[in-house]
Amino acid sequence: MHPPGCSDTPSAGSKVVQKFLCNFLQGIFRASALLWSGKAQQRVCRRHMPVIFTRYIFDCNKEVQQKTKRIQAPPPRCCRQTLCRGSHAGLEMKEGMLRSFPQPVVLVSRCLGFDNCRYDGQQLRAEIVELLQGYVQFIDICPEVAAGLGVPRAPIRLCVQKEAVEVWQPAESRTVTRQLEMAAAEVLPLFLACDGAVLKSKSPSCGLYDAKVFHGREQPQFLRRGSGMLGEKILAAAANRAVDDEMRLSNLAIREHFLIKLYASARFREIDATRKMRDLISFHASYKFLFLAYNEKHFRRCGRIVANHEKLGQEEVFTRYRAEMALLLQRPFRREAMVNTLYHAYGLIAEGLAAEEKEYIINTIEEYRDERIPLQAVTRLLEGQALRFDQHYLRNQALLQPFPTELSLLTDSGKGRKVQ
Ligand code: SF4
Repeated sequence: MHPPGCSDTPSAGSKVVQKFLCNFLQGIFRASALLWSGKAQQRVCRRHMPVIFTRYIFDCNKEVQQKTKRIQAPPPRCCRQTLCRGSHAGLEMKEGMLRSFPQPVVLVSRCLGFDNCRYDGQQLRAEIVELLQGYVQFIDICPEVAAGLGVPRAPIRLCVQKEAVEVWQPAESRTVTRQLEMAAAEVLPLFLACDGAVLKSKSPSCGLYDAKVFHGREQPQFLRRGSGMLGEKILAAAANRAVDDEMRLSNLAIREHFLIKLYASARFREIDATRKMRDLISFHASYKFLFLAYNEKHFRRCGRIVANHEKLGQEEVFTRYRAEMALLLQRPFRREAMVNTLYHAYGLIAEGLAAEEKEYIINTIEEYRDERIPLQAVTRLLEGQALRFDQHYLRNQALLQPFPTELSLLTDSGKGRKVQ
């Protein structure tokens, strides 16, 4: 070792000699130990000891060289968008596949597996709630209990009275509209802090689209389907939040759209908390392909907001971006638009592919276009190629994994509901 500032540093040649001598001495030491150990005497005769000596010296030298190589090799890169589990000893590919996801906050109807709060003192199971358990933070609410109607209680229904919708409890011959409106108003601030909501379908309180609305109180005639007391307020305040009911979420396309929106909102909420332009730019960049598939017009507008040519304040920029994102995510992506986006992504890795590989990926994209395989089949294929060619830009795209893979349930209700 030379003290700092000493100019008499050893030359490369003297370093090699030093290393050889060091290895030679280590070899002698190890071989001597072997020679005098009982085991060695059983296996090696003294005549062959010089050969063993020489081999040890070379082996030892090789070992040192390998160690040096390992030390000199650059450490695997730690992708900013991936979750580094602390140890870089594993394969880099494996690390690249582990994306970090925010934990969304979801408002949920309490009777969907949280408490026996239904009118008959029961609760229900909901597949989507069970799926999301452990991945999201639930905030469970029950407006009817909050309105003081008790459990169990006489059923309530929505009916049109003097051109206004009211909540009528026939068994008690009373209206509970005011109590339910107050309970819904209390829930609203909770919802505004959430990234989404899963509400009970058909309920006169929680229902979003399919609560029965009757004509008249005493001799009701079915009039139409509509939103419940809380459901209406939630839909009006939804903006960029993912909102749907447990029945509709059993449909594959609706669930996929819900999850994409939920995780995009949760990620945006995270950066909105710090309000750093740098974070907004990288958020927009990582959602480029996914947003392009959703709505190109709104995606371009989002881009102009991020560019901020008008030099607006950060708060204004984030507010505008949130509003534009809400419009962008209002409707699910169209399959044709997604296919175009997949070809964009493919363009980033096509150059390094062999002709057969190109053909294979194009066929896979076309299979997705023909509705023969799910989107994940294509995105996983593209992700593999992005890892292979170390295509950082593509690897960072939310399109490849917009939500945790564990939530990619392929079951479908088969009812072909339309996303509203
Ligand atoms: S649907 Fe809503 S109001 Fe009715 S029991 Fe469930 S949580 Fe309560």
